[in-house]
Amino acid sequence: MSVDKRKVALVTGGSRGIGRAVCERLAAEGMDIIFNYNNGEQAAEETLALCKKHGVNAFGIKADISGSEACSRLAAQALELGGRLDVLVNNAGITRDGLIIRMSDEDLNAVIDTNLKGAFYMMREASKIMLKQKSGRIINISSVVGVIGNAGQVNYAASKAGVIGMTKSLARELASRKITVNAVAPGMIETDMTGCLSEAAKAKILDSIPFKEMGCAADVAGLVAFLAGEDSRYITGQVICVDGGMAI
Ligand code: NAP
Repeated sequence: MSVDKRKVALVTGGSRGIGRAVCERLAAEGMDIIFNYNNGEQAAEETLALCKKHGVNAFGIKADISGSEACSRLAAQALELGGRLDVLVNNAGITRDGLIIRMSDEDLNAVIDTNLKGAFYMMREASKIMLKQKSGRIINISSVVGVIGNAGQVNYAASKAGVIGMTKSLARELASRKITVNAVAPGMIETDMTGCLSEAAKAKILDSIPFKEMGCAADVAGLVAFLAGEDSRYITGQVICVDGGMAI
C-alpha cells in the first residue's frame, strides 16, 4: 500500500506493556503509528524501533493524558504527523490500589484523571476528526475489574466501568457515521502493571482464572487489531474480555 493510503493509529501509553504490543501489531498490519508516553523515553525509543521494523512511519510523543489541554495538543500533533486518524486506542492507564478505608483522595483522583478522564479527552478529540472523515475506530482498553469488580481496586474499577459506559454511549453517538467504539477488557496480563504483585497475590488470582495462566500483551493486541480492521466493521458498543475465562 502506498504511504499516503496507509491507515493511521494513535495509541496512548504505547511505550510499554499492552500499548507497545498494540503499536507493534498495528504496525505489522501496515498502519502508521503515533503513540504517546508519560515518562519512559527509553522505552518509547524501543517501541519506535519495533514499529519501524515493519516499514511504517512511527512517532512517539511525550504527553500526559490526564490533562485536557495535553490531549488536545496530542491529537493535533497526531493529525499533523499522520494527515488523518483512522484508529484511536485508549490504552494508557495506572493503578493505585488499596482498601477503600485507606484510599486517599489523591489515589482516587490520579486513577480517575488518567484512566477515565484521559480516555474521555482523547475520545472527544478523535470524534471531531473522525466525524469529519466519516470513518474511524475507537478502542478503549478497560479491564475485567470494570466488569466484575475487585477488592482493593474501587478507584480502578470505577475508572474502568466508566470507560465501558463511555464506550457504549459514544458508540450510539457515532454509529450513524459508521464509526465504531468498542472496549477490550483484559484479565491478568503479564506487564509491569502486574509484575509488581507478590507471588502470593498472583497465585490467588491464577486460581480464579479458568485457563490457570496469565495472558500476554500480544493476546490483547490481537483483539485490538481485529477491532481496528475491516472484519469488525459491524461491531460496535461491545465489551470483549481477553481473560482466560476470568469473568465468565
Ligand atoms: P503498563 O505496563 O504499566 O504501561 C502503562 C502505559 O501507560 C505506559 O506506556 C505509560 O507510560 C502509560 N501511561 C501511564 N500514565 C500515563 C499518563 N498519565 N499519560 C500518558 N501515558 C501514561 O500497563 P499495562 O499493563 O500495559 O496496561 C495497559 C492498559 O491495560 C491500562 O489501561 C490497564 O489498566 C489495562 N489493563 C491491564 C491489565 C494487566 O493485567 N496488565 C489488565 C486489565 C487492564 P510511561 O511508561 O511513560 O509511564
